[in-house]
Amino acid sequence: MSLKWLITYVVCWCFLLSKKSVAGVKTYTIGAIFHEDSDDIETAFECAVKHFNTFNTAISFRTRILHVPNDNSFTVYHEFCQMLEDEEDGLVAIFGPPSTPSVDIIDSIASKIELPNVQIHSSSYLWPNQSFNLYSINVHPGLEQLQIGIGKIVESLQWKVYAILYEDIESIIRLQQVLRLTHVGKEHVVLRKIDPTTFRPVLKELKKLGYAHIIIDYDYRYLIEILENAKALDMDAHTVDLSHLDILANITTMTITDMNDKFTYRFVKECDIGRTISINNSVDIPNTYVKFRPGLMWDAANIFMNSFFELHLTENHLVTKATCDGKETTGHGFRLANYMKIRLIPNTITGEIQFQNDQRSTLVLHVIEMMHGHATKTAVWSSANPEMVSFVRSEKEQKNLIDLYIKNTTFIVTSKTGRPYLMYKETEDPDEVLEGNDAFEGFTFDIIDHISKMLNFSYKFMITANNKHGSYDKEKKTWDGLMGDILNRRAHLGICDLTITEERRSAVDFSLPFMTLGISILYSKPKPQERDIFAFMDPLDPVVWLYIIAAYISITLSMYFLTRLAPGDWENPNPNDPDPEELENIWDLKNSSWLILGSTMSQGSDILPKGLSSRMGISMWWFFILIISSSYTANLSAFLTTSRLGPNIEGAESLASQTKIKYGTLNGGSTQSFFKQSNYSIYQRMWAQMSQAKPSVFVNDYAEGIKRVKTAKNQLYAFIMESSSIEYETERDCELKQVGGRLDSKGYGIAMPVNAPYRTAINSCILKMQEDGTLRGLKEKWWKEMHGGGACKEETDSSSSDMKLALDNIGGVFVVLFSGVGIACLLALAEFFWNVYSVSVEEHKSYKQILITEVQFFLKVWKTKKRTYEVSRSRSNLSNVAEVYSTLTKKED
Ligand code: ASP
Repeated sequence: MSLKWLITYVVCWCFLLSKKSVAGVKTYTIGAIFHEDSDDIETAFECAVKHFNTFNTAISFRTRILHVPNDNSFTVYHEFCQMLEDEEDGLVAIFGPPSTPSVDIIDSIASKIELPNVQIHSSSYLWPNQSFNLYSINVHPGLEQLQIGIGKIVESLQWKVYAILYEDIESIIRLQQVLRLTHVGKEHVVLRKIDPTTFRPVLKELKKLGYAHIIIDYDYRYLIEILENAKALDMDAHTVDLSHLDILANITTMTITDMNDKFTYRFVKECDIGRTISINNSVDIPNTYVKFRPGLMWDAANIFMNSFFELHLTENHLVTKATCDGKETTGHGFRLANYMKIRLIPNTITGEIQFQNDQRSTLVLHVIEMMHGHATKTAVWSSANPEMVSFVRSEKEQKNLIDLYIKNTTFIVTSKTGRPYLMYKETEDPDEVLEGNDAFEGFTFDIIDHISKMLNFSYKFMITANNKHGSYDKEKKTWDGLMGDILNRRAHLGICDLTITEERRSAVDFSLPFMTLGISILYSKPKPQERDIFAFMDPLDPVVWLYIIAAYISITLSMYFLTRLAPGDWENPNPNDPDPEELENIWDLKNSSWLILGSTMSQGSDILPKGLSSRMGISMWWFFILIISSSYTANLSAFLTTSRLGPNIEGAESLASQTKIKYGTLNGGSTQSFFKQSNYSIYQRMWAQMSQAKPSVFVNDYAEGIKRVKTAKNQLYAFIMESSSIEYETERDCELKQVGGRLDSKGYGIAMPVNAPYRTAINSCILKMQEDGTLRGLKEKWWKEMHGGGACKEETDSSSSDMKLALDNIGGVFVVLFSGVGIACLLALAEFFWNVYSVSVEEHKSYKQILITEVQFFLKVWKTKKRTYEVSRSRSNLSNVAEVYSTLTKKED
């Protein structure tokens, strides 16, 4: 190559280079309008421009920023016109303003001067059908896509009951699709407009109503305040650092920025919006970094600058100064705006961008779940496949995440005290005060302790207000007790003898049952009879006894008079004398009463009346006594037996068919609901009796019911409770018994919020504990061993012992016997001393002499013959002489 040619080549190259460098440094001005409070959006804008300038040597951009108040369109107009005036080389585009109300002013000026207006606002929601400006490009997702996306994600959460808190009309428009979900209008969804003054009362109201799921569409900067009591579902909620919130709610948020994407990573790294923390790789971007509007602004700026550059490669832009009056226009606007609208723009952080009918038609929503300050992407919805939400976590990832959650959580366990499920520990030292979990013991406490060891979490027991299981108040629409604690997120788990019922299941989730049981009847055993040795008299009423005595006396007198009247009872005193001068009647009062008494005692008598009327009379007495004594005998055994066994209840049917014995249940428990809701006639009858009983038959806790059973007079109260608790009580209190079988079959479960992430893990633990016998062992421990279990084992054959008659019942018979014999002895003594006295008078001997003789003879028990005294002997001789003499004289006559 000749030198001439070489010089020419170098000069040309230098010219070209110089031309390129002159063109390459061509700097264009982008105008931007921001409100005073839109710092992060401005930062994202500046950062995008800086980033472009760093990597692009052909052209560069400089920014001209206008800060305007967001409530004064007039100022915005003037300041923007001033900006146009000041820019001698003209603007290539105007960005913003980021939100209403000045959007329209800028939009119309831009249209007039053909200046591209790049927007990120959502004000088009309010006027969806307005005609769009040819020069404006809005990268904010289109309303329809957003509505469908939000709707689908909420649907995929499968919430049946939830509340929606919204900020303004825009929020409501965004949530259109959610409102169209099937349950709306069926009392399942409530809508509340909120502002900072109403956060508290509205959330309080929702808490009271038991709304567990809350969708919040509100400015993310207020979320901390709102989320104190709620779950969130909001576009920027994932950017709020929620780790310090002391709430038990799961927080689900939506974002259009993909936190695992490398472009997002670049944005976060370069723009450094938020706090400075080192980010090592793209998959570990802290959720605090990527916000919705700054992300949109980053994308908008990049789309514009790249489109401008791409067009610049084919031809130079002829950017001219434009003025507000429209006399001068930019010249490049239409082509540039159009070029941007027809492209599919990849490599953005808010997802691919494409426009259709002047609106952004592509949208990807990422569902982020927050647990313990960790944000994890769980699902994605894309406008490319609008019918489905794809879950992005594998089962293993999901499990690991839940395990992490469980491990890092201190589970608040709500419970109620009640033997043997949960009790306050008794200490030997009365001054010792136990605190926290140390204060408790019991069956359910042990279950949670076992589960916590299996799943490796810590827990804290709390006692629910009012110590109630949990019932629904239809008027206030609230749950109390354990159920209220779970619904109001005061606790993660609720455990006690909490029965799984359909009504409760509609509000909370239950674990698998850890115990099965049924409703049964607790009743008292017959009380040991009061000491009544004269119980043998009970078969006959005291009045009847009095009548019998009166009858005895009157019949004795009647016999006395009857026999005197009846000729047959006047007998010949000397049977050898066929013609007696006088007749004798043996039926004096003594003999009459002896006869009546003998026949009363079924002993009869050796003398009997012979007169017709007297025989008739005595026959009637015998008949009377026959009836009385057989009634007495029959009644005696029945009476003594039944009075020992107490009232006879065999089960629910026998309770239902009587009204004497009252019966009741725990107030507000599942047992009460069982009767209230039953369709079975016997239980309906029982419910009618229970609900109408006065005083009330319902009790506030088991202890009260048990006490009532034990203290009710004549066993007139039965308590209907669950078989497991009956079993516990009858193991320890031998005065109590279960009557009849189980009326139903159900189980106790651990309550937890609906869709709680730890439910499956808890269920596996319960299954394991069932299979390895832990639950059985715990039942054995708390039912049979601890706190006096097994006390009533020896009582098993109580029924036959109940049947025996004890001395207490028939001791009176012995009393009658021995007191009668005692009286007989006294009479004998009286007779003895009277006889001694009579003999001493007749024999003209001293009383003492006769007494000694008689006592000596009494003590000689082997002697069976007794000598008579002299006087009586001679008297008897004399009487014999007189008898012979009178016989002789009669014969001589
Ligand atoms: N275990 C029952 C409940 O959960 C209490 C009862 O009604 O007996 O309500």
